[in-house]
Parts: sequence; structure tokens; C-alpha cells
Amino acid sequence: MNKKNIKKYLNFLGVSKNYKSKKINCEICGNKKSKIITSKISWGKNKFGILPVCCCERCGFLFQNPRFGREFYEKFYSEYYRKKIYKNLVPSKDFLKDQESRGVKIFNFIQKYLKKKRGKMLDVGCSVGLMFKPFIKKGWICEGNDPDYHYVKYGVEKYNLPVKFLQAEKMKLKKKYFDLILIAGSLEHCYDPNKVLSLCAKASKKDSILILEARGEPRSTMKAYFNHNHHRYFTLNSLELIMIKHGWKPFLSTMYPISGPTREGGIWCLGKFEGKSISKNFQSLIKNGKHETYESIIHKFKYYDNINKNLNPDRGDYRNK
Ligand SMILES: [Zn+2]
Repeated sequence: MNKKNIKKYLNFLGVSKNYKSKKINCEICGNKKSKIITSKISWGKNKFGILPVCCCERCGFLFQNPRFGREFYEKFYSEYYRKKIYKNLVPSKDFLKDQESRGVKIFNFIQKYLKKKRGKMLDVGCSVGLMFKPFIKKGWICEGNDPDYHYVKYGVEKYNLPVKFLQAEKMKLKKKYFDLILIAGSLEHCYDPNKVLSLCAKASKKDSILILEARGEPRSTMKAYFNHNHHRYFTLNSLELIMIKHGWKPFLSTMYPISGPTREGGIWCLGKFEGKSISKNFQSLIKNGKHETYESIIHKFKYYDNINKNLNPDRGDYRNK
């Protein structure tokens, strides 16, 4: 990505500071080599521009590359993101209703996998925090965080929910404490998913459950699928991989909409915390077949590019929260 294109993107965001960008290694397997899947992505609202997405040549993980530094992404979510994409500072009624109903669906779905009727739960990237409602009602002790100041404030002031305004990388959590951790639609947005998951791992009880949800497995054309507010793109395989890397053993990976039909394009992976033993042979697991190839990824998109040729595939901005 040359300087001119970086400047263009920063101008689009309305950023006057000249942030530097650099190439990064695969965020899952650490491999240096990655290949560009597409350079032109959606900047939102029918605007497209250069911000390359790469595919790791070892594990097949898809991620924005190059990347800016931490300071940029902190600003991105606290300022530009909302200004550029969501002008509202107070969540809409529909949004609140949807968040609560998604919480109920997750609560019902997860029952049969839980050892205890009530326990302790963490929601990373919880937004307003309304997904806690069914859990709190049944006696769960909940804790959540989100980098969206206005939505967190709303959750605290309006509903008295246990949510904190915080970047997930800065969480301070009790060790071996949680029975259930939920990260729905946040792992793609955070600055450092490995830091977030390693903090979660330390805070997880043995055999506790992690629920990861991400926008993944393309179901639209390449041009509409990739957008600038997703820094990485999971597939069922890469969701499992990042979970295994940090100590969870996946037991259910699905495209079934666990939290209901309002989150088009979401994929889910549920895992049980086993600790370091599971990640010991992580690299050989990838080498021996738990990977995707550039070719297989490209063909997923070709499939949708072909069937959508005559449609307008732009679903608009996707927000996972
Ligand atoms: Zn990789």
C-alpha cells in the first residue's frame, strides 16, 4: 500500500494526523508470508477504496494488511468510526430490543452445554450490555466491557447494567473466575485479538465455555464483504484455530444463527477451556491439515461473485453489535 493510498484513506476518515502503517505477520499462526486477496474494499455507504486484505499462506487466515498502530485504532473507534458510520450517540429502540432478544436466544441455546444453572459470565464487546438480561434474571453474575463510550454509558445509566467503558486489551479480570465468556462480533474489531483471548484464558475456569461469534464465511461478493471496520475475517476454520491457540477445544462450529436472524453472515464457534495442553502442537496441527489455502478462499468468493453478478450485493455497513 503506497503513501498516496494511505493518505486517501485517512482523508476519507477525516484524520489530519499522518498515521504510519506497516505490514504484519499472520495474527493466528505468526507466518510472515501472506498474499493479497483483494486491495479494493468497501469504505461504507457505497464507497470503495484501497485497503488490502491478505490471506496467510500457512493457515489461510484473512486479515487487513498493512495495519496502523494502536493509537490509530483507539481513535478509530472512539471518534471516526461513529462519526463516519453511525451518527447516533444513543442506541435506537430497535437496536436495544434486538440486543435483548439475542441475549435470550443465546441463553436458551447454551443451557444444555452448561454444567451449572448459574455462574459467572463475561461479555467482551458487550455494547449496551442488554444481552446480560436473561442471565442476570437467572442469578448469573455478569461483567462486560466495550470501547463504545456512549453505548456503555447508556447501559449503565438507563439499565444499571454491569458494563465498563474499556478496550478489551486492557481488561483486568480475576483468575480462573468465569464459567462462560461471550465474544460476539468483537474479535474482528479489536486491536489485538491474541491479547484479548490470552486475558480471557487466564480468567477462565477449567471446562468453562467460550462462545465466539464473528462475521464470516463469505455470503456475498468480495467487494461488499470486505470493509474497513473489520480488521480480520474469520471462517469456521480460523475461529477454531484462534480458540485452540489460546486453550479452548472447539465442540460446536456452525453457521446456524444462534442469536436469531438479525445478524446476517454470522458464524459461531463454541469451545471448552482445557488450558495449554490443547495448544501445545498448534503449528503441527495447522501443518497437518487444519488450514485453508489461498485457492480455496478465492473460490468461495468466486462462487458468490458469480451468483450475485446481477444483484446489488451491497448490504450496507454491517455492525455486529
Ligand atoms: Zn496464518
